[in-house]
Amino acid sequence: MAEDLCRENVCGGRAGTAGTKPASSSAGAQHGSEPEEPSGQDFGLLLRNAAYLLSRPRCREVAVPGAWASVAYVGTSELRLGDLLRLWQSGAEGWSGTCRKCGGRYVITGYGGSPLTGGGSGWGYCTECGARVRIPFHFGHAREGVRAAAGRRPAQSPEQPAAAPRPSSLAEWNERAAVLAKTAAKTPRRVRPPKREKRIPSLHEVLVLLRLREHAGMA
Ligand SMILES: [Zn+2]
Repeated sequence: MAEDLCRENVCGGRAGTAGTKPASSSAGAQHGSEPEEPSGQDFGLLLRNAAYLLSRPRCREVAVPGAWASVAYVGTSELRLGDLLRLWQSGAEGWSGTCRKCGGRYVITGYGGSPLTGGGSGWGYCTECGARVRIPFHFGHAREGVRAAAGRRPAQSPEQPAAAPRPSSLAEWNERAAVLAKTAAKTPRRVRPPKREKRIPSLHEVLVLLRLREHAGMA
């Protein structure tokens, strides 16, 4: 109950709590520091911007805490942001649904369990009220997650081997060399800027970017 109040009134909620420290802030509601775990509303933000994120290879590769699908005897796969967005967008059964508390949409971020015992669960958040959601393990739904991760293509393709030199005649080389010698005298040497690092952003960075985009009316 106290947690719900905190979520509804994140900025002003601390004033009347007479110095009592919250036991743990699981929803990452603390300001100023990087939240360890995204909130349900953060997942709503991600879902609203699914098309934008899915069109960017590095955004698809973003790691999401608690996002994995594990099926005993089948395998365990880490789910990246792109995998989750595709599962939610496609309406894959067992990966999103209607929140019992508020009627909003909840999203499932992972599954773990055993097809033999049926034990295990799926977990996620409501994108509206932020409530944590836990649903029973379902073999088919969890396997869908393992498959989604298996079908993912890496953002960076492996290094392409250098193309073999084209066969050419000596006359052609001489011609080219003559052209180069002429132009080299005229054009100043170009200094190439250092290659930008192709880093996968953190989920926190993506969320900050999306908030700025929505604030600027770009989304
Ligand atoms: Zn809800």
